[in-house]
Amino acid sequence: MTPNIAAAKAALSHLDIEEKDSAIKAKSRDFFWYSPVLKDRLDHVVADFVVSPRSEAEVIEVLKTCYAHNVPVTTRGAGTGNYGQAMPLAGGCVMHLHHMNAVKEIQPGRVIVEPGCLLKDLDAACRADSGQELRMFSSTWATASIGGFIAGGSGGVGSCTWGSLRDLGNIIRLRVVTMEEEPRVLNFRGEELARVSHAYGTNGIITEIEVPLAPAYDWVEMFVAFDDFMGAATFAEELANQDGILIKLASVYEAPVAHDYFQRVRPYVTADKTLVGLMVAPHSMDGFDTFVQRRPQADVIYRSDSSTWERTPGAVFEYGWNHTTLRALKVDPSITYLQVRYGFPEHLGLVEKLREMFSPEVLQHLEVLKENGKVMFAGLSLVKFTTEERLEEIIRLHEEAGAMIFNPHRYTLEEGGRQTVDDRQLRFKKESDPKGLLNPGKMISWDDPDWGYDRMYAYPKLQAAD
Ligand code: FAD
Repeated sequence: MTPNIAAAKAALSHLDIEEKDSAIKAKSRDFFWYSPVLKDRLDHVVADFVVSPRSEAEVIEVLKTCYAHNVPVTTRGAGTGNYGQAMPLAGGCVMHLHHMNAVKEIQPGRVIVEPGCLLKDLDAACRADSGQELRMFSSTWATASIGGFIAGGSGGVGSCTWGSLRDLGNIIRLRVVTMEEEPRVLNFRGEELARVSHAYGTNGIITEIEVPLAPAYDWVEMFVAFDDFMGAATFAEELANQDGILIKLASVYEAPVAHDYFQRVRPYVTADKTLVGLMVAPHSMDGFDTFVQRRPQADVIYRSDSSTWERTPGAVFEYGWNHTTLRALKVDPSITYLQVRYGFPEHLGLVEKLREMFSPEVLQHLEVLKENGKVMFAGLSLVKFTTEERLEEIIRLHEEAGAMIFNPHRYTLEEGGRQTVDDRQLRFKKESDPKGLLNPGKMISWDDPDWGYDRMYAYPKLQAAD
């Protein structure tokens, strides 16, 4: 099954094809380099060509042509994923969906949109149309696409109230094109959504998305400082448990993260302060003020609606989720991170235990998350990287302590997830991508069903470095 790149390129030459080597290289990369482990393995990876379809009909043409010529296809939204999700491991075609960005229909409580639409543009369209906004978005709101968020993301700003993308009701419908001799167009709802959501584009290309909306607010963004870490974590948890106060974000940053890595916040905090970042609905501010007055240890140092700071810190959510890692990396390139699940009801105790075990080598960064109606934490801990062996040990000790790790130092779906085969995704891949051409190397269960997860998976057809 040798790919015939030249034949595929020639057949697609009437479409928007990128010819410049530098642009092909740039569009073959995502934020994999957040991980020193992935940087070491994937830095050289590059596609043979990049094509940008303008419509679902052109997506079908690209898939049909690449199928005929055995060319791998890796789909790209905006390339902000950080598990190497959009890296074309076997070369071939990168299909960039940036032209497919139309907002097609907005109704009360829902929107239908093409996958390449940026989250910020989608939010702006919904707000302008009818005062609505996305329930949740990744902190890469300004740069990421809705298609990439659904195929590669998990949740983010809004997840403290609405849960994760995979929770029932947070995606309504996905329209998907298969990679076959004659590509099919399918509409998935309900149970079928799990086949392709968070599947990294390994088993179908999403060409239309229907997601629910919530009323839009001018969220009041705040930073609250604390002397003590567990006091801050408990504050964030208790706030999220207030039934009458609507929030969109509650992040906790262990000292000295705010002082050392948040440059515009630094003049207002000392190195011993733990910070909580918040977004609270304006109509909830009376309730919030009372909540704070009852907790004298909480010091509100910044409010977006009445700031006295010389320079605005910008959007508070751009300090949260994986933006925390980005800010830390800019100051200290040796920082990397972990994605940890601190499940209810052990979440607070588990965080305390792991902090005692690892701080300051691992600094706690928590995001409040709702799961099955219960408030808990997602951890995007900052790790001072020394060696791969030590990183592995830190991960193992977290798991032994009872915390689940979604390993961001792996490029496969399984290792970045729950380390098990998702049968629904594998079964659908067998029928939708019989030649295994979609984003190859990302689904271990397709390549090697007997894989034991005892060591890092190395895709055998990974492009060789020069
Ligand atoms: P890409 O990186 O282009 O693609 C992601 C994956 O989806 C790839 O496997 C790609 O092949 C596939 N894909 C893209 N479009 C389609 C399609 N139409 N059909 C099928 N497959 C497709 N993630 C979160 O979940 N929450 C966060 O808060 C968050 N914060 C982040 C902060 C920073 C600073 C960074 C660098 C990353 C963060 N991420 C977060 C990860 C990432 O930004 C998000 O998942 C983002 O929404 C991905 O969108 P994208 O358009 O860049 O997708």
